Amino acid sequence: AAPNDEGRIVMKRFDASTATEKELDDILRRPAQKTNDIMGIVGPIVSDVRARGDQALLDFAAKFDKATTLKSPVLKAPYAPELMALDEETIAAIDISFENIRKFHAAQKEDKPTVVETMPGVKCSRFVRPIERVGCYIPGGTAVLPSTALMLGVPALVAGCKKIVFASPPRPDGTCTPEIVYVAHKVGAECIVLAGGAQAVAALAYGTESVPKVDKILGPGNQFVTAGKMLVSNDTSAGVSIDMPAGPSEVLVIADSDANPAFVASDLLSQAEHGVDSQVILVAVDLTEEQLKRIEDEVHDQAVKLPRVEIVKGAIAHSVTLQAKTIEEAVRLSNVYAPEHLILQVRDAAKVVDMVEHAGSIFVGAWTPESVGDYSAGVNHSLPTYGYARQYSGVNLGTYVKHVTSSELTEEGLRNVGAAVMRLAHVEQLEAHRRAVEIRLEHADRK
Ligand code: NAD
Repeated sequence: AAPNDEGRIVMKRFDASTATEKELDDILRRPAQKTNDIMGIVGPIVSDVRARGDQALLDFAAKFDKATTLKSPVLKAPYAPELMALDEETIAAIDISFENIRKFHAAQKEDKPTVVETMPGVKCSRFVRPIERVGCYIPGGTAVLPSTALMLGVPALVAGCKKIVFASPPRPDGTCTPEIVYVAHKVGAECIVLAGGAQAVAALAYGTESVPKVDKILGPGNQFVTAGKMLVSNDTSAGVSIDMPAGPSEVLVIADSDANPAFVASDLLSQAEHGVDSQVILVAVDLTEEQLKRIEDEVHDQAVKLPRVEIVKGAIAHSVTLQAKTIEEAVRLSNVYAPEHLILQVRDAAKVVDMVEHAGSIFVGAWTPESVGDYSAGVNHSLPTYGYARQYSGVNLGTYVKHVTSSELTEEGLRNVGAAVMRLAHVEQLEAHRRAVEIRLEHADRK
């Protein structure tokens, strides 16, 4: 590790080229999550909402969100204009982002069904149907996040989900953030559930007197939200699915000697300011001591000027700089970490993309700060964290649809495939299955 001057906001340094696999594993480990403790808090909240419905939501709103005067836990469309009164600049920013997100997700539509004749007379098809009812959770405890409302609501609109329900913690005066109301209005959300945490998740999963039950719950949130989503998705009586497991936000920046130190530092910090549990990793490709120092100076100098400097300090305390010799080695480290966000500030950045195996979303080249993807470029910002980029995609149009398959056989088709079906049914000793084919073939032979 590098000398850690008193009071300096600096990430610990490691030389990746001399570290063993075991050491790298330790260096790249995310801070542990305490799932079991949280489940003990969340379980009773979920049960209470199932038992007492709206009244439980109102009680939790008073307890956790200080919304003691809330009369109803649901704000229904059409939303009164005064509830979404915003200045023109904010409206324009939301409208531009809405349109870019809409365009990018609309392009992901699968217009035509897949149809294959596997044998003469045996036709197999696969086609798309939207998930009917979706619940979008928009965090609201510590920050106002209309961007999350856009990222979850716009693809639901594009996918053709019939019922879009938003949920977000109420403000202490019982209202909803006007930016979120405006997005709800734009995407056609039929209501906003004024609840946060596990109680909002429970209401969406099971429904209450005034909250409609949904088929799928999406969206990030704190550990109570995440634990609530895990709990309800494991309960078959809820009949609800979730988008993906979520953890604290993270970024990995790969920078070489072409990178502008100020740009690199600003990207590291824009993730570090999310929360003390966020993690940021810099992979420096063949940088000299002086070049590395310049980035570290920028991190410190920019950090101390940020309003959220205390949060940044917390995040930087468990963040690291890894020194790699080559770009290949740097990308290998990134693939091991599987970051939610990967930023490439290197020569020929576009070519490096081909080497990336695991990442939620990639930001390519000097002119692409992560913030453009967080808000307005068009890509989704709801992404797999905690290494889940190995097996999960970020939210996309596919998150809001499911595929149905169909098969359609002619008499000739059944003659062609029937013997194989009957044999396998016989092997599995499922006589009724075998007879379902035989009965038809006998009938055809008698004609
Ligand atoms: P939140 O809306 O997730 O949670 C607020 C709710 O938590 C409250 O309404 C309350 O019901 C519940 N809660 C708080 N303390 C509780 C307690 N002691 N017991 C039970 N329930 C309790 O808002 P937040 O807390 O500000 O968290 C937002 C999270 O979302 C952050 O972790 C942030 O990193 C994450 N986030 C992630 C992304 C992403 O795309 N990955 C985007 C935006 C936000």
